[in-house]
Amino acid sequence: MTSLEEEIRSVPFECRGCWHVWEEEYVVGHVHDRRGREREIWLRRGLPALPPSPGAVSCPRCGSQQATMFPEGYLARHPELIPPPHPSEPDETPLLSPVRKPLHSWLT
Ligand SMILES: [Zn+2]
Repeated sequence: MTSLEEEIRSVPFECRGCWHVWEEEYVVGHVHDRRGREREIWLRRGLPALPPSPGAVSCPRCGSQQATMFPEGYLARHPELIPPPHPSEPDETPLLSPVRKPLHSWLT
C-alpha cells in the first residue's frame, strides 16, 4: 500500500545576472514505497522537476541560469526584496530647455 502526501513549497530565487527576485512554486509528493522508505517527487508547473537548486531554474526575466536560491520563507522575512507588482516607469521624456542654444556656440 502506498500513500501520497503533497505539499506546496515556494522557493525564492535571485538572478545573478539581472538581480530579479522571484519564487518558483513546487509540489512535493512524499511517496512511501512498499518497504516504508520515503521518497520525494518534485513537480513544477505540473511537470516532474528536479529538486530546487541554483542550476535547475532559469531567470524568468533574462533567462540566465545563474540563480541564487534562498531558504524557503526567506522573502517573508525580507519583503524589501520583492519587487512591486507594478513598478513605476521612469519618465523618459527628456528635459528640454525652452531656450535653444545657438548652434555655433559649441562649434567654435
Ligand atoms: Zn535575470
